[in-house]
Amino acid sequence: MPEAPHVVVVGGGVSGLTAAHRLVGRGFTTTVVETADVPGGKLRASPVAGVDVDAGAEAVLARRPEAVDLFRELGLDDRVVHPGPGGAAVYSRGRLRSLPKGQLMGVPGDLRALARSGVLSWAGTLRAGLDVVSPRTRVDGDVSVAAYVGSRMGQEVVDRLVEPLLGGVYAGRADRLSLDSTLPQIASMARRDRSLLLAVRAALGGGGAAPTKPGPVFASLRGGVAGLVGELAERHSSSLRLGRRVRGLQRLPEGWRVHLDDDERISCDAVLLACPASEASRLLAEHAPEASRELGGVEYADMALVTMALPASAFPGPLVGSGFLVPAGEGLTIKAATFSSNKWPWLAEELARANPGDELVVLRCSIGRFGEDRILERSDEELTRVALRDLGTVTGVSGTPVQTRVTRWNGGLPQYDVGHAGLVERVRSDVARVPGLGVCGAVYGGVGIPACIADADQEVARLVDTLRTNISTSGGDDAGTNQQGVNP
Ligand SMILES: Cc1cc2nc3c(=O)[nH]c(=O)nc-3n(C[C@H](O)[C@H](O)[C@H](O)COP(=O)(O)OP(=O)(O)OC[C@H]3O[C@@H](n4cnc5c(N)ncnc54)[C@H](O)[C@@H]3O)c2cc1C
Repeated sequence: MPEAPHVVVVGGGVSGLTAAHRLVGRGFTTTVVETADVPGGKLRASPVAGVDVDAGAEAVLARRPEAVDLFRELGLDDRVVHPGPGGAAVYSRGRLRSLPKGQLMGVPGDLRALARSGVLSWAGTLRAGLDVVSPRTRVDGDVSVAAYVGSRMGQEVVDRLVEPLLGGVYAGRADRLSLDSTLPQIASMARRDRSLLLAVRAALGGGGAAPTKPGPVFASLRGGVAGLVGELAERHSSSLRLGRRVRGLQRLPEGWRVHLDDDERISCDAVLLACPASEASRLLAEHAPEASRELGGVEYADMALVTMALPASAFPGPLVGSGFLVPAGEGLTIKAATFSSNKWPWLAEELARANPGDELVVLRCSIGRFGEDRILERSDEELTRVALRDLGTVTGVSGTPVQTRVTRWNGGLPQYDVGHAGLVERVRSDVARVPGLGVCGAVYGGVGIPACIADADQEVARLVDTLRTNISTSGGDDAGTNQQGVNP
């Protein structure tokens, strides 16, 4: 029987691990090379006050099928959890205010609710309402989120609603982020409808249109969403090479040779790059120069998360809701805070179990907007101090945390700048010209976990098709995760 084709996956984040899982499911063998000593990339959890708490991503969008389907496929259904009641607030104009009802990623669809929320000044609210009577804004190619939403509804909507909400996903600036790539639903409204506000209202079920899908918007796993990569890594542990960096790729007459940093070489039929843009750019330089050049220009936002366990008694009253967003210009350094033990009831239960007699709450503060790198030069102690000070301003908390954890994510999130979709198309078509080469990950089809899973699925399907055309496969289901093709 011919040997099953072997694919080296570069990067053991959720994209690379999903890709490996799919490849094995299709009868291929894999080696996943990961620079870090632990698998998972931006998905990682560690104990805070005795309970595992996510240190990176913490939830998946449940309105997309990919992540929840993968939970089910991996038998994780019994660990699936959803956020508790109570949404997020915005710290705007000096105090916490509820997000206005009837908005889509911060773009208001209900003027009265917007006025009631008090998030904008009266002038800002009136300016937002001008959208309803203003002539159409022509949008031909891709534009920035700020350019389009600002021209329809004014800068306050951009600064106090849209940018903080988008910041939670991209950590980016609305004057650079691509409308087409980051707000595709708004982008199609921009090309179809005159009034943005009325289009948002209709999309949300006002004006007789179909209501949005029912059911929880987000999901996670008891013990942290990092449990997803934990399960994938466990299933494919024999193919994982941790603490090893891929240094270079060499194309052979048939297949590839992958060079690791300790001079080990792995021969394989194909290589799938599931690593961030700068590394993909470096590895592609010789083989797909246009893709390499394009990826070399993608910028990333750095950020830090300060997670704290505090006694509930340190707060003047019970914390309400799941946390708050902070627009730039409010005089605070943190850009958001998640009241993790409010948002995730399982976490509150586990905290109570692990700390009998102590009523604790866990919060995560996020620091670092795109371009604010100086803030992240501060030490962990300084970041913790700043986060506590800002939390004090907003919630009135005063006291000392029982435990703190500072997690730095340098190169945390790729920036989907104006024209990003075109860039990705050029990268994909340059890579597709090279037999046995593929790319997937957060830089291509979306930064969220479901988008990364979808991207890995799609690229694996494409690679498998091209490989099956060239190589006759055994297709056996016992191909497993052995290390065929490894030449130490
Ligand atoms: C703080 C934070 C919070 C987030 N929150 C959420 C959330 O709640 N929900 C959500 O859906 N998304 C969230 N995201 C986004 C999401 O987590 C990421 O976009 C996604 O996990 C990226 O996965 P990936 O596998 O594409 O990349 P990564 O996770 O970056 O994995 C790539 C891996 O490649 C490895 N690597 C790089 N170069 C090499 C090399 N030469 N050789 C070998 N290995 C290499 C890296 O070490 C890394 O582990 C968040 C992101 C951050 C930073």
